[in-house]
Amino acid sequence: MAQSPRQPDEKLVAHTIGAHLAYLEALITWERALHATSCDLCRPRNASMDDLARFAEQAEAEKERRRAAFRDLSTELGYVPIGEGTALPAEPLGCPCDPLDSTESGSSAS
Ligand SMILES: [Zn+2]
Repeated sequence: MAQSPRQPDEKLVAHTIGAHLAYLEALITWERALHATSCDLCRPRNASMDDLARFAEQAEAEKERRRAAFRDLSTELGYVPIGEGTALPAEPLGCPCDPLDSTESGSSAS
C-alpha cells in the first residue's frame, strides 16, 4: 500500500527560507567585519581595533545564532529548501580593495 508523500507545511517552508536569508545576511556582515579588521582601505577611520574586534565578535555570535535557527527549522522541515527566493540578490561587496568591484571605475575625479 503506497502512501502519498506528505505535503510540506508552507508556513514552515517560508519561515525556513526567511531564516536562511537572515543567516546569509549575518554571514556577510561577519565577513565584512572581519575584513575591516585587516584592511587599511576598508577600516573605518573613527573605529579603534578594539571596536572592530568587538563588532566582529558580535557579528559572529549573531551569525551562529541565525545558523542554529536555520538548522533547527531545516531539521523540522526535513530538508533544505532551494530554488527561487532562497538566494540573496547579487550585490558587490563595495570594498575599495576588491579588484572585482569595478563600480568606481567610471569616475575620473582625481
Ligand atoms: Zn578592504
